Amino acid sequence: MQVQVLGSYGSRTPEFNTSSLLINKTLLLDAGTVTAALSLEEQAAVDDVLLTHAHLDHMVDLAFLVDNCLLRRSSPLRVWAPSPVLEAVHRHLFNNEVWPDFTRLPAPAAPALELIPLEAGSEIEIAGLGVCWRRVSHPVFTAGYRLTGGGSSVLFSGDTGATDDLWELGKTSPDLKAVFIETSFPNRLTDLARASGHLTPAGLREELKKLDRAEMPVKIFHMKPQFLQEIMAELKALGDNRFQVLDGGEKFLF
Ligand SMILES: [Zn+2]
Ligand SMILES: [Zn+2]
Repeated sequence: MQVQVLGSYGSRTPEFNTSSLLINKTLLLDAGTVTAALSLEEQAAVDDVLLTHAHLDHMVDLAFLVDNCLLRRSSPLRVWAPSPVLEAVHRHLFNNEVWPDFTRLPAPAAPALELIPLEAGSEIEIAGLGVCWRRVSHPVFTAGYRLTGGGSSVLFSGDTGATDDLWELGKTSPDLKAVFIETSFPNRLTDLARASGHLTPAGLREELKKLDRAEMPVKIFHMKPQFLQEIMAELKALGDNRFQVLDGGEKFLF
């Protein structure tokens, strides 16, 4: 499984891009930064998108991805997520007010966008990968995912506060090779992190105890750019050599 980091931050500046991973060149995991990172040809090669939740920093580039590929694709772009996430995306973005309803354009019988709800529980196959999700703790309905392919699994939590079910899923995955997890705020903003369903370095340390895998690589993302130096210093002070803070552009093979 090839994982390419297109964006890895919790907001945008000229240097920092919102979160998105490209898996095996055809599947996006969140769509915070796509169209500024991929050529038109690369964008047209994306067939499927998995969304963790409907917050803007995780789905904004769906708008431009579907627009850019409107006449380049022969089949709809498939967007997968639990139904509350898809309903929010449809109601608030593709609503014919903020942006066209591409689930009915260019023609209702042959739309550019297909929204496909993911049932809870069992694993299904998307883009040749096994996909399983669990609800995580965040102010809006949010999923964390386990992706499995080629004998390897990766656990991916989008935005999350303290959570349990996703770690249970990780614990029962013997082929787990890495965890992607957010750390948005420095420790001094713990109250804000709790209220907004995010982690600090201290919160991250507590969450990883639940997974209980001493050697598991941990890929950290979704830092808020204005607090980056503080977060980096606090992560370093934890002295955990499993940590890698993502900056965008990294490619991993699992
Ligand atoms: Zn976010
Ligand atoms: Zn969020």
